[in-house]
Amino acid sequence: MKEYKVIETHSPEETFAIGKSLGEQAVPGQVICLDGDLGVGKTVFTQGFAQGLGIDGPVNSPTFTIVQVYEEGRLPLYHFDVYRIGDVEEMDEIGYEEYFYGEGVALIEWSTLIEEIIPETAIHVTIEKDVEQGFDYRRITVE
Ligand code: ADP
Ligand code: MG
Repeated sequence: MKEYKVIETHSPEETFAIGKSLGEQAVPGQVICLDGDLGVGKTVFTQGFAQGLGIDGPVNSPTFTIVQVYEEGRLPLYHFDVYRIGDVEEMDEIGYEEYFYGEGVALIEWSTLIEEIIPETAIHVTIEKDVEQGFDYRRITVE
């Protein structure tokens, strides 16, 4: 049975803090899928996550590559943004298995685009807006 946890945030700082707390708890080999529409706060969450791992430098979405590697934290962070991926075979070409089943933590923005290669054990984080709850409201589901 799958377990869900729903967290509601009302500012970017709160979403950052949720990411940070998960980053502090991250263990080697963990795969975290991060999904939600454009502008929902995936990058804010990722920046918190990176800080939770002890990465101080700027973390932005990898624009020209599918994956960006950060080695300076407690564990390596493999930050994927597969938004622009054409075919899941591109993941084979970059050798994704070394990242998904390695010593670090893989965080994948837009994971649903590569659903077929996501490990069963992955943690799914979904961020959603709800305009009725206010402009800065976000519902974060962790599964
Ligand atoms: P994505 O990476 O999902 O496209 P970003 O993290 O780049 O989105 O941008 C999210 C935007 O939403 C930022 O401008 C941020 O300040 C704003 N924002 C407002 N409220 C929140 C919230 N509760 N959580 C996260 N971001 C929020
Ligand atoms: Mg982003």
